Amino acid sequence: MYPTQIMLQEAEKCSRCGVCAAVCPVFRELQRETYSSRGKTEIAKALVAGELPYSSYTEDIFSKCLLCLTCKGACPAGVDQGKLILGIRAELAKRKGLPFSKKVAFKYLLKKRNLFEKALKAFSYLQMFAPPQGNGKLRHLPFFLSAFGKGRLIPDLSKTPLRKEFPEVIPPSKAPAQMRVGLFSGCFIDFVDPAIGRSLIRVLGRHGVEVVFPKKQTCCGIPVFMSGDLQNGLDLLKMNIEAFAPYELDAIIVACATCGTALKESYKILVEGESQEWRDRVNAFSTKVLDIAEFLTQKIKLTKAEKESVRKVTYHDPCHLNRGQGVLSQPREVLKSLPGITLVEMRDAQRCCGGGGSFSFYNYDLSQQISRQKVEDIQATKASVVVTGCPGCMLQLKDQLGQKNSQVEVKHLIQLVDEAGV
Ligand code: SF4
Ligand code: SF4
Repeated sequence: MYPTQIMLQEAEKCSRCGVCAAVCPVFRELQRETYSSRGKTEIAKALVAGELPYSSYTEDIFSKCLLCLTCKGACPAGVDQGKLILGIRAELAKRKGLPFSKKVAFKYLLKKRNLFEKALKAFSYLQMFAPPQGNGKLRHLPFFLSAFGKGRLIPDLSKTPLRKEFPEVIPPSKAPAQMRVGLFSGCFIDFVDPAIGRSLIRVLGRHGVEVVFPKKQTCCGIPVFMSGDLQNGLDLLKMNIEAFAPYELDAIIVACATCGTALKESYKILVEGESQEWRDRVNAFSTKVLDIAEFLTQKIKLTKAEKESVRKVTYHDPCHLNRGQGVLSQPREVLKSLPGITLVEMRDAQRCCGGGGSFSFYNYDLSQQISRQKVEDIQATKASVVVTGCPGCMLQLKDQLGQKNSQVEVKHLIQLVDEAGV
């Protein structure tokens, strides 16, 4: 089924009750009905019926969505804003086309990993000319991309991608291997913060898990198809399925909440218009995907070594892990099993951090306004570390805490497990 039909199916469910407006982070800041889920649903219907023109104003409305799914979680009728936005952005891209930079990136760079790596390297050299900001760990984008980023701060890119540090099949440090899993790294862990991936490989190795890291895997595709480019999104999906196809695996592990949602949920929607063979292949692939917190709680029994608590940590629920995949209790279970750590819950841990992937690049000021409450809630816990399961949230939290000169560290769950040595 073409995403426009899926989008209309979602829109038809709406009873216009307005519950979503009260919870939408964008609506809370802008106080305009058109930016709430109800408003977007009504506008989407009017656009498809030809009652409203596709314009830069309507484009702006659909670009101002974090895809945080807070509205979906609260909606009594079960309207899925993720499907709605996918459908309407696909329509917008079909009618108006994508900006040139996105066309090049989606069609060429993301499909050719070596070219992508070279482009990122060039990008990181140019980024060096931008002075460090906040706590000195983040910088602005290179000058020629400043119009795209509009003030967004990002970390320096890694000198070596994660995939170049390891062979395709990584034997466990504790032999013999008890299990064999595939690793889907995602672009952020591969190119920006490979330390997360190193921790993951070390922890799995300590528990006798062999890790297969297929080098032909590429971007999960979410920035591509959520921009409305369904064809290139589908091409990336197929490249990823083919990359893992040669291996018999017990599970496919992800440590990025957004990639996990793409692989588990969005791929099934994207492939709906494809052949039965592709639908079956995607189904088989998606059912094997587990977030690292799910894998640790389901397949590995972490035994807690008693040790006095030395660190207070708090946990931020990434939208795409919590509402996207229903992974809520598992990260907490993992944290509670680590020695030397006390988990202190922040107020409203499920509140969106304001990152929203490329949302924060195009709407940086708004993204910062949305983050304000999250930063206050983290600081109120007096924790020394905020832990999460999404590299995108980590970027946003590092930026927002750093700009306040906060000493709170931001870490991925797997980094804490690794540090604890369990
Ligand atoms: S909560 Fe759901 S049903 Fe109610 S207005 Fe929002 S989208 Fe429509
Ligand atoms: S997904 Fe988030 S930002 Fe988008 S309409 Fe729903 S609550 Fe608002």
